[in-house]
Amino acid sequence: MKKKILAIDDIDANLFTLKSVIESLEPQKYEVVTALSAEEGLAILLKEQIDLILLDVMMPEIDGFETAKMIKSRKKTKDIPIIFVTANRDDAVIEQCYQVGGSDYINKPFNQVELMARIAFHIKLHEKEMVLRLREEELEHEANFDALTQIYNRRMFANYFEQKISYAKEQKSPFIFVMCDIDLFKKINDTYGHLVGDIVLKELAQLLKSRVRKGDIVARWGGEEFVFVFDVGLEMGKKIVDNLRKDIATTLFSEVGSVSCSFGMTELREDDSVDTIIQRADDALYEAKENGRNRVCQK
Ligand code: GH3
Ligand code: MG
Ligand code: MG
Repeated sequence: MKKKILAIDDIDANLFTLKSVIESLEPQKYEVVTALSAEEGLAILLKEQIDLILLDVMMPEIDGFETAKMIKSRKKTKDIPIIFVTANRDDAVIEQCYQVGGSDYINKPFNQVELMARIAFHIKLHEKEMVLRLREEELEHEANFDALTQIYNRRMFANYFEQKISYAKEQKSPFIFVMCDIDLFKKINDTYGHLVGDIVLKELAQLLKSRVRKGDIVARWGGEEFVFVFDVGLEMGKKIVDNLRKDIATTLFSEVGSVSCSFGMTELREDDSVDTIIQRADDALYEAKENGRNRVCQK
């Protein structure tokens, strides 16, 4: 696919020259769209996918530097490389080209070889940057989300929980911490196979996620265990968690039908650390299992 270059210049003849030079030298590679002012250029940038901008410095009303600042301040356009095209060779002007976010500059009248080389270089550089950025985002997602269920993983939860505890203590705002474990999940795997077990985990994760409100959090703790934080006190928390338990027990999961979970819950205490609050919820969960499963116990 052709790369689209936007040329912004207040003089029509300059735009015509740029467009005809670029498109005649590399007709397969580039298409040049033109704008006679900053406003016109910005309108094009919002509508179209532009790969590089050639920007005149001296323009009436909004000059090239101001235009660049606007381009760099908008999320959609801030990463598009800008090459300034300027007749002015003063150090101060050149310096400002870079200061406002330009990737490069080229003098007018321009040398065709130099122009084409700079365009190709900056488009390629930008492409590489975008690939790296995407990979970075993927890695960050993988680091924080559980691959199977696509909810937060234990690592993410651990980071969050540490902060949550100190903030809640500071603000003296209560919360409850809940551990949830699927009952007799091994039997589901043994009966229907591991892949069906995975589907149950995914469906349960979606159900749990749909039940947490803004500010609350749910994460996969590991295996068939999930953890929650609800921003409520103990009494309200009991109701929420027991409703959740009932909802799960009455939901029909694909392939396996009914599934139940046991819950251990506890409220934050003043002298709690991450370890002590988790230990209490874990003890409560153990009690729920011991007492027959599909129930909520609290410590
Ligand atoms: P309990 O009611 O006491 O919790 O019994 P349980 O069978 O749920 O508990 P147990 O700890 O004996 O077994 C948990 C099972 O969960 C064993 C393990 O293979 C399975 N499991 C853990 N992670 C996954 C997973 O990602 N996918 C699937 N399909 N199974 C998993
Ligand atoms: Mg279990
Ligand atoms: Mg377990």
